[in-house]
Amino acid sequence: MKNKKKNYKFLSESKQLLDIMINSLYSNKDIFFRELISNSADAIEKLHFLSISNAKIYENDSKTKIQITTSKINKSITISDNGIGMTEKEVIENLGTIAKSGTKSFLKSIKKISEENNKLIGKFGVGFYSSFIVAKKVLVRTRTANVPFNEGIMWESEGKGEFTVNNCTKKNRGTSITLYLKEKELDFLENQKIKKIVNKYTDHISIPIEIQNYDKKSKTYSWKKINTAKSLWTLKKSEISDKDYKKFYKKLTNDIHEPILWIHNHVEGKLEYINLLYIPSKAPWDIWNKENKSGLKLYIKKVFIMEEIKQFLPNYLRFVKGIIDTHDLPLNISREILQENKIIKKLKKSITKRILKNLQNLEKKNPKKYLEFWNEFGSVFKEGPAEDIENKEIISSLLRFSSISTKKNNNKISLINYIDNMLEKQEKIFYITSDSYDSAYDNPHLELFKKKGIDVLILTDRIDEWMMNYLTEFKNKKFQSVSINDSSINRLTEENEKNKKNINNNDCLQFIKKIKKILGEKVKDVRLTYRLTETPAIVLTDSNEMSTQMEKLFLAAGQNVNPIKYILAINPNHKLIEKIKSIKDEKLFKNWIDLLLEQTLLAERGSLENPSNFIKLMNNLYLTN
Ligand code: ADP
Ligand code: MG
Repeated sequence: MKNKKKNYKFLSESKQLLDIMINSLYSNKDIFFRELISNSADAIEKLHFLSISNAKIYENDSKTKIQITTSKINKSITISDNGIGMTEKEVIENLGTIAKSGTKSFLKSIKKISEENNKLIGKFGVGFYSSFIVAKKVLVRTRTANVPFNEGIMWESEGKGEFTVNNCTKKNRGTSITLYLKEKELDFLENQKIKKIVNKYTDHISIPIEIQNYDKKSKTYSWKKINTAKSLWTLKKSEISDKDYKKFYKKLTNDIHEPILWIHNHVEGKLEYINLLYIPSKAPWDIWNKENKSGLKLYIKKVFIMEEIKQFLPNYLRFVKGIIDTHDLPLNISREILQENKIIKKLKKSITKRILKNLQNLEKKNPKKYLEFWNEFGSVFKEGPAEDIENKEIISSLLRFSSISTKKNNNKISLINYIDNMLEKQEKIFYITSDSYDSAYDNPHLELFKKKGIDVLILTDRIDEWMMNYLTEFKNKKFQSVSINDSSINRLTEENEKNKKNINNNDCLQFIKKIKKILGEKVKDVRLTYRLTETPAIVLTDSNEMSTQMEKLFLAAGQNVNPIKYILAINPNHKLIEKIKSIKDEKLFKNWIDLLLEQTLLAERGSLENPSNFIKLMNNLYLTN
């Protein structure tokens, strides 16, 4: 055989990245086992998958397994698999760039992880390079299926910036990776220790993992299986303990927290499938990212097909993790076909309904736990009313809100709670959107509602304004923003109006006319209002206009929008208004009206377009008084 040894350098940044990784993973060093075994399991699963269309790929050896051997003499551990193996090109590509997916996202995130919660580090797939945490040299020997024995490839590196690639002879298909341990890591040579680690990280892997045992008496070697290699989801519920479920979850997701709940069903009938789904108790730090990997794995008749399947769940349930195992799909299904497949669409529908049902159960049986769920995932769940029209009613009933009434106990209410507490004459579900709870609570728009004892939902999530475009009705009650000019709110003020008969109507009309003339195009209209008690005036949005909060969102996103034209609503019962009304000096009157408008805009928007003008108007008044 010709020796064609070649030297390569890692990409320039690799050495440095490697150092950072090795240092930050030092207290978690045993995760290299998890990484290498999961790579082996992936390689075997890829082989199973290819065998569906080409049985020859097994080379008459279809008993796939992962084997671990140690050598005290060489101070080395070898992890071998009879999976798909790698070609020369693949070796260089996959092992030559440290910036592979898993490693890269890990390195991005370590900046965010502090020393104390070091444990979290275990959550990330850090990949093949984790070998160098314990090894001073790594030797990879690999051969793909169906090529001659002497077309094996050998890759070698000390993790210091260079690697070499050579050819070799390899009888067994697949990959074997030998780690030459650093002097202080020799305790990894103990079988007991290896068993414990493998059990901790990879017990759920349904491929047998074997370790080589040496029997001193008979002086013989034998293989011993160290994982249970059961596909938990295929067992009956009655055979699985809560502890098993939780253990399986942790292994499946690498999450250190326990799940809030799990949903396990064997479904038979038109569709045949098993689902084992989990709702985590903590949201990942990048839950917002819609491009996030999905936590669902697809199996077909126990054969692993692919992970990160998005098609089984709507986006607003993207925090759900677990396994779908179905009998209804062809084994050779591709990601592209998944998009179009009718069965997948049916599965998605059925799974979605089941998750929502389970959330409803949780809500009923354990409201406290439900609130924990809500606090972690509520803001993602709020995408639901827009995305899933079919389940809108049940999604709506699962939403939670702050409101005027929750101020006392810092609780959250459901729409059903809200409707139960509506006043008899109240027609709609009222809400206000704002940047924060406190600023909404003190907003003059709520004065009337507080006085009448009518609750108003207070929405302060960024997504809320958008959600409310889709949430228009619940149980035949329409939603109504309190900052919008609407007859249902005006009707609530009738009593106030009646009580104030002493107001001279004609006088008021003249007053309003004068204000309109002064403000001109700056406002849409000027009106009297009886909904205020402590505030002289507010601005309202016309029902066909964009709301203030929506405009802010658009502006923040860098979009151009036509500025809102507000309706200025004046409280004729307020002392300040009475005072302004009586001013004869036209210049002074104009100054007051201009200031009044600026005040109301400040209260509505939280900021002014031209603060200096506001200050000037104020100072003018101080000087004239
Ligand atoms: P990741 O698993 O996230 O892709 P790794 O660094 O763990 O990143 O592995 C890089 C790549 O090397 C894998 O995607 C795979 O293509 C290849 N690889 C690693 N180990 C094996 C193996 N035992 N058999 C076949 N290919 C492997
Ligand atoms: Mg990997």
